[in-house]
Amino acid sequence: MNKLIIANWKMNPASIEEARKLAAETDVEGLIICPPFPFLEAVAKTIKKAKLGAQDVFWMNPPTPLAGQAGAYTGEVSAEELKSLCVEYVIIGHSERRQNLGETDEMVAKKIKTVLDAGLTPILCVGETKAEHEAGKTKEIVKRELKIGLSYIPHLTSNIQLVIAYEPIWAIGTGTPDTPENMLNMVKFIRGVASDWPLATRIIYGGSVTSRNAENFLKHKEISGALVGGAQS
Ligand code: PEP
Repeated sequence: MNKLIIANWKMNPASIEEARKLAAETDVEGLIICPPFPFLEAVAKTIKKAKLGAQDVFWMNPPTPLAGQAGAYTGEVSAEELKSLCVEYVIIGHSERRQNLGETDEMVAKKIKTVLDAGLTPILCVGETKAEHEAGKTKEIVKRELKIGLSYIPHLTSNIQLVIAYEPIWAIGTGTPDTPENMLNMVKFIRGVASDWPLATRIIYGGSVTSRNAENFLKHKEISGALVGGAQS
């Protein structure tokens, strides 16, 4: 199966012209480009081979069954709105959102459900902090994030496409990736936890992947791809 490479642009670039240029330069098969919301449409119109992803989503689609709440979420963007811009994938639960913006496992679970309901593919990010890693809590943390994150998907649901990105937080943007051996161990562990659901799950690695070390991960059939943030080389 072809590898999936997710390009998380984070809050870059600064202008729509740069976004168009960057999208044109990186428009290749197998790449999923995740620009900031304001550039989604421009990138959608530029790319021909790559696919489009979003970096986040709100957990409800208007109109909502919650009386009096329909659409009243200033600043939020729904899965249906993303879909109307040709978005196919949505990053959910990125550690920067969990750590800096108060995103909880419960919010992540609701977002996963909303995205699946809209027919889009969630990219669920899981991973432990440096302190948790050093305390030997990696699997405990990842298991909790998966169990709660997937908890709104009925166990009998089949034919669901899901991408799980194992991203150890201590490896993101640090220049120090995890080892492929540990990633293989985590793939086995994640597959075991996710096996409660009959999902078509692809498990990818994220954290200081560059063009120089990517092959170390991608050469393994168990690792379905990579999530790349700031790679310049
Ligand atoms: C990320 O932001 O998810 C990421 C993997 O970043 P980086 O490639 O910079 O480590």
